Amino acid sequence: MTMRPVSFFRASSIDDAVAAVSGHPDSAFLAGGTTEIDLLRLGVVQPSLLVDVNDLPLTYLEDTDDGGVRIGAMARMTDVARAPRIVERYPGMSQALLLGASEQLRNMASMGGNMCQRTRCSYFRDPTSACNKREPGSGCAALTGVNRGHAILGTSEQCIATHPSDVAVALVALDAVVRTIGPDGTRSVPVEDFFLRPEDTPNVEHPLAHGELIVAIDVPDLPLARTSRYVKHRDRASYEFALVSVFSAMRVDDAGNVAELRLALGGVGTVPWRAHRAEQSLIGRPATPENFAAAADAELADARTTPMNEFKVAFAKRAIVRELSEVTS
Ligand code: SF4
Repeated sequence: MTMRPVSFFRASSIDDAVAAVSGHPDSAFLAGGTTEIDLLRLGVVQPSLLVDVNDLPLTYLEDTDDGGVRIGAMARMTDVARAPRIVERYPGMSQALLLGASEQLRNMASMGGNMCQRTRCSYFRDPTSACNKREPGSGCAALTGVNRGHAILGTSEQCIATHPSDVAVALVALDAVVRTIGPDGTRSVPVEDFFLRPEDTPNVEHPLAHGELIVAIDVPDLPLARTSRYVKHRDRASYEFALVSVFSAMRVDDAGNVAELRLALGGVGTVPWRAHRAEQSLIGRPATPENFAAAADAELADARTTPMNEFKVAFAKRAIVRELSEVTS
C-alpha cells in the first residue's frame, strides 16, 4: 500500500476546528480515533488533513432546563456509561454503552465519534473489494459474499451493511437530538433523522455538511426511561458487534395493557432501528407474549434477507418477545 502524507492540526476552539475542516475539502475531524485510525491504516479513508478536536471543551455532562441531559460530543463512552444521572435516569443507555466496546476502546471513544462510526462490513474495510459505500458505483461484494451479520431492515440494492452502534439504538428510542456547529451556524437534528438509510447513496450516512461538527447530544426527560434495558445478543460475550440487540422501556397499566413503550433494535438495520410498528401495535393492548409476537411480526414484515442472515428474522422476534416478557414478569 502506498503511504500518503497526512497533515495534523490540533484545534483549540470549536470555531478553529470548523474553519479548518470546512476550509479544506480533503479533511476530517479526529476525535477518539478508535475507528478512524484503523480506516486510515487500511486505506479506506484518505484525508490529507486531520483536525484533532480532543482539546475542545466538549466533555461535559449536564442537566438541561427541561429535565433532560446534554452530553458533550467529546465525553468518553466510559464516563457517560458510569455517570450516576445516566445510570439512574437512562439505564438502558448506560448498558448499551458498556456493551458497546471493550473497556480500552470505551475509554477513548467519544460520543460524537460513536455517532459517526462506520460500518463493520468486512468488504467496506477491504479496499480491494467492491463496495458502494466506500466507492460509489463499484458494486456490493456483500450481496453475494459472506453476509451473515448484515442487515435485514432498511437495506437497498446498493448496500446491506448493518449500523454498528449500540448507544445509537438507545438514543433513537429516547428521541435524542444531535446538536452541531458548522460553517453555516448551529442546528439540531433528531437522532432518527441523523442516520440515513443507504437507498441509492450508501456513501452518504448522515446529513452533516463538510466541516459541521457534532458538539452535543441532548437526551430528553423521559420518566419511562428509568426502567429501560438494553440486551445484546452476539457471537461472543467479551466484545463483539450485535447480531440482534433490543432496547426497551415499557409501562403496563393496572389493567395489564401496554400504556407506554419505547422499542429499538440493533444488529438488524442499516440504521439504528426504532421499532415504530411494534410500538404502535402494542400501545393500548394487553401485554401478552402473543401480542409481543404479533408486534415483532409487524416490525419484521418488510425484512429482506439472504440465505446467510435469514435467521435474524426469527432471532429478532424471539429477542423482542423475550425482552418484553421479562420486563412484564
Ligand atoms: Fe459496501 Fe454496503 Fe456492500 Fe458492505 S454491504 S460491501 S458496506 S456496499
